[in-house]
Amino acid sequence: MDLGFSLNPRPSVFIRGFKNIMKSGFVTIVGRPNVGKSTILNKLLGTKLVAVTPKPQTTRHKVLGILTEKDYQIVFTDTPGIFKPKYELQKVMVKHAISTLEDTDLTLVVVEPFRMETDIVEKLSRPAILAINKTDLLKDKPKLLPLMDEYKNFKLIQEIVLTSALHNEGIDELKQELVKLLPDEELYYPSDYLSDKNERFFVAEIIREKIFLLYGQEVPYATTVVIEEFKEREQGKYFIRAVIYVERRSEKMIIIGKSGNAIKELGKTARKDIELRIGHPIYLELWVKVRKGWRRNLRDVKEFGYG
Ligand code: GDP
Ligand code: MG
Repeated sequence: MDLGFSLNPRPSVFIRGFKNIMKSGFVTIVGRPNVGKSTILNKLLGTKLVAVTPKPQTTRHKVLGILTEKDYQIVFTDTPGIFKPKYELQKVMVKHAISTLEDTDLTLVVVEPFRMETDIVEKLSRPAILAINKTDLLKDKPKLLPLMDEYKNFKLIQEIVLTSALHNEGIDELKQELVKLLPDEELYYPSDYLSDKNERFFVAEIIREKIFLLYGQEVPYATTVVIEEFKEREQGKYFIRAVIYVERRSEKMIIIGKSGNAIKELGKTARKDIELRIGHPIYLELWVKVRKGWRRNLRDVKEFGYG
């Protein structure tokens, strides 16, 4: 199935015609799930590009976010994070995260201030900036000094920046440090591009984010969203048909809810965000289908656009 996007981190066709060479390059964001990578990316871009939820592993795809200013362009890749994979979907997610570590100009490592992440910084193969995020949760900032010293032992780490992405703290400094280390290059993307992903992708991601926010426990992890139709129908009104795939009948019942109440709520909150994003009123049709054990089946995982 063609979902209209690819997971290739670098465009296969470079867009030429941008004569001006300026600081531009690829920055891969890595770190453990839930440390705030997607929040930092959204803050760096100044817009909400990717899904953020309190649940780990919300990010499944590699997403390019493009930030172009007068004198630089940073192409960010938000990865699903590095963790021990349990099934095919997770294997594909981690494989992508590790492969982008090599194919990047710079790495942005995001960690929490509570412990040393040796196994992640050991995997670095390119120069890196370390962001110690969630510093708002620390009462005693001087306690960070020994941790920072430990990270400084890793030669690829060029700079350490303390951030609180939630409160927009340290984000500008982080941007400046990244720009300093970018190579002089031709632009990779036209200056008005925000991402390499199309609207369909983001619509599916919005629905998935709402599923993570609305449903408890394990159900969100068993779902994926496929946009089957996305077209303009009446004047300016878009018709979107999305299928939510789950692994079991019982999960389907949970998504739909008693007399369809849960899915109605899902449709309502998703529709609001989608309309904000695409700037048009939409009609959103949601279907739920069972694809038995899809996360464990590499063919299904690929069909759904992962990997
Ligand atoms: P990711 O899995 O690394 O992409 O993490 P997310 O960006 O999805 O964030 C995970 C959770 O941490 C969300 O609930 C965020 O709101 C929260 N979070 C992100 N940055 C901060 C921060 O600076 N401070 C605090 N207290 N929470 C944060
Ligand atoms: Mg994320």
